[in-house]
Amino acid sequence: MRKLSLLGSTGSIGTQTLDVVRHQQDIEVAALAAGSNIDRMEAQIREFKPEIAAVWDEARAKELKIRTADLPVRIVSGMSGLIEAAVCEEADMVLTAVVGMIGIQPTLEAIRAGKDIALANKETLVCAGHLIMPMADAYNVKILPVDSEHSAIFQSLQGNSCNKIRKILLTASGGPFRGKKKKDLEHVRVEDALRHPNWVMGRKITIDSATMVNKGLEVMEAKWLFGTDLDQIQVVVHPQSVIHSAVEYQDGAVIAQLGTPDMRLPIQYALFYPQRRPLDSEPLDLFKLSSMTFEAPDMETFEGLALAYKAAEQGGLMPTIFNAANERAVAMFLDGKIRFLEIPEIINMAMKAIKNENNPTVDQILEAEAAAYELIESR
Ligand code: NDP
Ligand code: MG
Repeated sequence: MRKLSLLGSTGSIGTQTLDVVRHQQDIEVAALAAGSNIDRMEAQIREFKPEIAAVWDEARAKELKIRTADLPVRIVSGMSGLIEAAVCEEADMVLTAVVGMIGIQPTLEAIRAGKDIALANKETLVCAGHLIMPMADAYNVKILPVDSEHSAIFQSLQGNSCNKIRKILLTASGGPFRGKKKKDLEHVRVEDALRHPNWVMGRKITIDSATMVNKGLEVMEAKWLFGTDLDQIQVVVHPQSVIHSAVEYQDGAVIAQLGTPDMRLPIQYALFYPQRRPLDSEPLDLFKLSSMTFEAPDMETFEGLALAYKAAEQGGLMPTIFNAANERAVAMFLDGKIRFLEIPEIINMAMKAIKNENNPTVDQILEAEAAAYELIESR
C-alpha cells in the first residue's frame, strides 16, 4: 500500500491528485496540507482520513480543529505544520503541489526523511535545484516530475539510461497571447490573461503561461531534473499541446510523449512509476486533430522567457531573484495594481538591482526572496 503526503491538496493539482487516488485501491492519504481553504480541506479530511492536516493560516487551522473534533486527525499550522505533513512517518511519498517558493523547505525535509518526491512545485527546483538534486542522490530518493512537459521528457527517457541525448524539445502552447506583439498587450485585462487556451490551472501558473515565464521556469526545472546544459533545451511553441515534450538522441531519433491535455496522466505516472494504469481520460484522436504546428518562441514580446534564460545562465541566486520578483509581480497584476507588461519590467529591475551569490544556502535563498519583495514594495 502506497501512502501519500499531499502538499497543496486544495489546489488544481492537489484536487486532481485526489481524483487519481479516489480511483485506485492501493494508495492512501497520510497527510494533507493547504494554505487557508478549510471548507475544501474539511471535505478532503472526511473523505481521505489523513493522520495530519496542515493549514498555513493559524486562525483557519484553529477553526478547522473545532470542525473536525469528531475525527482522529491532527491539525497543524504554519511552516512547522507544513514540514510535519511533509515528513509524516506513515508517508512514503510526498507530492508537492503548493504554489511558489514556500515549497522549498518542506521538500528538503521530506528528502532528508527519505520520502520519494512527486514534484509539481517547479519554483522549488528553480531556486534550490543545486541543493535538492544532490540531496536526493545522497538520500537515495526519487524525484518524479509531475509537470506535464517534464513527465513527457521523463517518459521519453525510459529504457535509455545508456544512451546520450542531444537535446530536449520543451513544448509550449504559447498561451492566450501567442502571435501578439508588445503594443497589443498594453491593455491586457486580468480576465484575458487568465483565459488559457488548453489547460485549466491555478491562477499564478496561468498568468505565468500568458507571460511565458512559466516556460522559463520549466527550462530551469528541466536543467536540474535531467542534468543537461541550458543550450540543450529548446523551447518549441506547439499551440495544440498534444506533444507534451520530446527528447532527441545522438542518432537523431526523437522520442516524444503525446496525449490529450489532462494533468491526471502525469500525476498518476509519478504516483505509480514505473507502472501505467488505466485512466478515464479522453483518448487522443489523430484524425480529429488533423494537424500539428510548431513555431519558435517570440522572446522579444515575451521578454520573461529571455530573462529566464539569462537568470539560468547566471545561476546562483539569480533564478531565485527572477522567481521571487515574478511571484510578487504576478500577485500585483492579479490585484489590479500593475499592468501586464510591467511583470517582465519588474523582474528585470530586480535582476539588475540585487547582487548575485554563487551556490546559495537555503537562508540566502530566503533572504534574496525577501530582498526582491522589499525592492518591489519600495518601487
Ligand atoms: P493552485 O493555486 O491551484 O493551488 C495551490 C495550492 O497550494 C493550494 O492547495 C493552496 O492552498 C496551497 N498553498 C498556497 N499557499 C500555501 C501555504 N503557504 N502553505 C501551504 N499550502 C499553500 O496552484 P496549482 O495547483 O495550479 O499549482 C501548484 C504548483 O504546481 C505550482 O508550482 C505550479 O507551477 C505547478 N504546476 C501546476 C500545473 C497545473 O496544471 N495546475 C501544471 C504544472 C505545474 P489554498 O487553496 O488553501 O490556498
Ligand atoms: Mg508545464
